[in-house]
Amino acid sequence: MAVDKPVIAIVVPCYNEQDALPVSVPRMLEILDVMGADGLISPESYVLCCNDGSRDATWQVIADLHAADARVKGISLAHNRGHQKVLLAGLMTVRDKCDAAISIDADLQDDPHAIIEMVKLFREGDEIVYGVRSSRATDTWFKRTSAHAFYSLQRRMGVETVFDHADYRLMSNRALDLLSEYGEGNLFLRGIIPHIGLKTGVVTYERAERVAGESKYPLSKMLSFSVDGITSFSAKPMRMIFTVGMVLLLLDLAVAVWVLIAYFRGATIHGWASLMLSVWFLGSLILIGLGVIGEYVGKIYIEVKHRPRYAVAEKIW
Ligand code: UDP
Ligand code: MG
Repeated sequence: MAVDKPVIAIVVPCYNEQDALPVSVPRMLEILDVMGADGLISPESYVLCCNDGSRDATWQVIADLHAADARVKGISLAHNRGHQKVLLAGLMTVRDKCDAAISIDADLQDDPHAIIEMVKLFREGDEIVYGVRSSRATDTWFKRTSAHAFYSLQRRMGVETVFDHADYRLMSNRALDLLSEYGEGNLFLRGIIPHIGLKTGVVTYERAERVAGESKYPLSKMLSFSVDGITSFSAKPMRMIFTVGMVLLLLDLAVAVWVLIAYFRGATIHGWASLMLSVWFLGSLILIGLGVIGEYVGKIYIEVKHRPRYAVAEKIW
């Protein structure tokens, strides 16, 4: 695996980033220059800008950057498909054209210097290196708290996640090949990549403010992304219906005792006791029934994703 001078592809998803790219791409090229001068990487390393159906001049800006330096390359999606999908498009484009790919946002919120550390870890044998924020000082209180609540909820739902890691990471071409076997349409890369396995490392960095332009992730997109993050990995919410049904059935016993005592003490009106008993009993039965159905639907859901069932990491033949 160990490549002496790996070809590195920096993959940048871009949606309406005409203002950020002229600042951020030269910074990324500088990092490539530094690593090239240190003999860490091949001079054929490059930056791939992936235009996600932008409505502004992003594609033109990418073309101009390419004209100025051929190490800047571009792909453009026919229309806006969202950060995760455009990132996948980029990674799949470079999969057989690099030794390792690094995904990084166009706005330089992720410190590009961490790339150097990532490449060093890659050269030492890590195949997936996560960029993890050391602090969230530049995030609002709300974004910080909601993000942490989201990570813990995901963990509790059984999704493997890396805390404070967004989509800033290095992947070897072998990791990219394994990623290509995940056929699911509903992509949540941060969950899928820990699922791949392979030797992983972590690099920490300070997250900065955007260099230009504004966030393309308003609260509504963030929320639907979080729901995706849980529902595309876990059938647990459905399983919880079953648990609630069982708990209710137990409570039902206590309720039944209380209702019967009230009934025999004559402290009830006609029909109350029978209604109470049946409402509780049927309620818990219905929930248990739904939970059983949920269990099967959950299985179907996992099956239709056609995820690879195993990943072979090495072979001696
Ligand atoms: N992005 C994209 N398609 C979208 C939304 C965003 O390619 O539909 C890109 C965007 O250009 C940026 C990255 O995804 O490079 C992260 O977006 P942003 O910085 O707006 O999100 P935030 O950092 O505020 O969460
Ligand atoms: Mg950003």
